[in-house]
Amino acid sequence: MSKLNPITRELQISGIRKFTDLVANYPEAISLTIGQPHWPTPEHVRRAAAVAIEDGRTTYTPNRGLPALRQAVATYYSDKFQLEYQPETEILVTAGATHALDISLRTLLQPGDEVLIPGPAYPGYEPVVRLAGANPVSIDTRKDGFKVTPASLKAHVNERTKAIVLASPANPTGVAYTREELSELAGALRPTNLYVILDEIYSELHFAEQHVSLATFPDMRHRCIVIHGLSKSHSMTGWRIGFTFAPAEITAEMVKLLQYSITCASSISQYAALAAMEEGRHDAKPMREQYRQNRDMVVASLRRMGLQIVEPQGAFYAFPDISASGKSSQQFARDLLQEANVAVIPGDAFGVLGEGYVRLSYACEPDKLREALERIGHFVEAL
Ligand code: PLP
Repeated sequence: MSKLNPITRELQISGIRKFTDLVANYPEAISLTIGQPHWPTPEHVRRAAAVAIEDGRTTYTPNRGLPALRQAVATYYSDKFQLEYQPETEILVTAGATHALDISLRTLLQPGDEVLIPGPAYPGYEPVVRLAGANPVSIDTRKDGFKVTPASLKAHVNERTKAIVLASPANPTGVAYTREELSELAGALRPTNLYVILDEIYSELHFAEQHVSLATFPDMRHRCIVIHGLSKSHSMTGWRIGFTFAPAEITAEMVKLLQYSITCASSISQYAALAAMEEGRHDAKPMREQYRQNRDMVVASLRRMGLQIVEPQGAFYAFPDISASGKSSQQFARDLLQEANVAVIPGDAFGVLGEGYVRLSYACEPDKLREALERIGHFVEAL
């Protein structure tokens, strides 16, 4: 064992997975744990995959992804979010956003570099930074509504800072940056030479306003790598399709990592993704509407219980403060599971800054959610 990579050995399995595995021992529990839409993949997308299999379109594709898919992706994201990227040189099809994050960060980072990660944060960022020999640096956003501000950004930049990871809407808090906030952040970034990894996987699940990408602000494009994917917008978590949008010189480097890690994304999934891009423009709409209604139910209900919560503006997560219970986030989640048969994720799965919170995923049927909230209400009342 001692000969194995010490960085890998120090990595931990994500706290989300650990807790989800524990929940498997409670078959009667209502699970609000996993970041997975409860809708099936749209029928037209499944059909396209079945046809691809029947037609034998099951061979390797170009490393960057099918040219037709990259063209469709370019059109889709240009129309939706004004992301203007060349399909031949600036877009890659990856094995999910997870893989997109991996090749983006590894392309940028050298040992000793620092990467700013506003926290509490999705647990997928930090390990990739560490694997590249670089150092993650948390920005504490708890007093700023879970958002990084120009002041908190500036306070953490030094000569080793290479990049910042920005997610909007974010996991686990559901907060999203407004156009004004992004404009101010762009102002703070302009005098620096930082790269920005923009995790926009939840952009179609934005309740308040149309999603805006920081990459579209003046002087931002050259420093941004935009991460997208179909897991959330088209309920395609198992198909493993993600995208990167980045200037040609960065993409030319990333494609090498893509080639040597996966060769290409699954051809069948790529044909499914092509259908999603060409005919699935409105697939996310009913999901977004359902999540917005669920969000309203969750926020109103948690506030009635006396729990503090920053209102989520997108995705499908709520991140209430449970510190008044006097329990650690692990203890709270375990007791809730054992006593009330409801599973949520302890906040410490999102780093030390997540301690004192729990994450509820409200990607589920409203009736199930209502029942879970009632049980949580009784549990909190009895504390
Ligand atoms: N980024 C964020 C913020 C996420 O919440 C997730 C998944 O939960 C991902 C990236 C990874 O998504 P994918 O399924 O495309 O790998």
